[in-house]
Amino acid sequence: MRKQIAAANWKMNLTYQLGEKLLNDILEAEIAISDNQQVIFAVPFPYLIMAKSTVAHEKGYDIAAQNCSDKKNGAYTGEVSVEMLQSVGIKYIIIGHSERREYFFETNKTLADKVNICLENDITPIFCCGEALSVREKNGQNDYVQKQLEESLFHLDQDKIINVVIAYEPIWAIGTGKTASTQQAQEMHQYLRSVLANKYGHEIADQISILYGGSVKANNASELFSCPDVDGGLVGGASLVAQDFIQIIKALK
Ligand code: 13P
Repeated sequence: MRKQIAAANWKMNLTYQLGEKLLNDILEAEIAISDNQQVIFAVPFPYLIMAKSTVAHEKGYDIAAQNCSDKKNGAYTGEVSVEMLQSVGIKYIIIGHSERREYFFETNKTLADKVNICLENDITPIFCCGEALSVREKNGQNDYVQKQLEESLFHLDQDKIINVVIAYEPIWAIGTGKTASTQQAQEMHQYLRSVLANKYGHEIADQISILYGGSVKANNASELFSCPDVDGGLVGGASLVAQDFIQIIKALK
């Protein structure tokens, strides 16, 4: 059975102290996490080790990095390699968030490289895809997102794709308060699963978690997560408030 995942993406927010308090406030709620559920905090690089040790003995909780280099190691000042992240115990990395595609010019090709390095190091990429408003207005979202998957993921063999988590994040819904409707979310997630099934077969497609991201809030998480092909969420703003993220974790199927 595929995992249901609540992933917090803190982006470039919070100080170390506030981040540590936020983690502890959420853990203090002692939410029962079942075997098919996973809670992940994607925190800024300097907080990874603190965050990792804070959740170390908590069942169902883990930590992600928000990015990594597309280079393996070497003379790339300021970059952080997958191997470095792996060496501090990181198991998940967000790859290809729309903010990185837009502001740091990440392409489907460089993201394919990052995905490969993650998988070589036994790290699960949380691969982000999603269309801009202009694409949806022309009803081109399915082709657009399919191409993102084809160009960054479809070189992978069956035994590799199974270790990828996909996050569908329509750009028009990120940080805007404008959430995709449950129908829009379910339609796209079902479409993505059918694209995966065409390439890898139903058995594989059914095992891949597809998260929804874009203005997931405490008051809409249950409805979104109840969609059959929505396997949880990748949450920005609402993950910075303990009570809100607690509600979102509790909304997992
Ligand atoms: P918001 O939840 O703030 O819309 O952000 C979504 C997102 O980009 C998560 O990666």
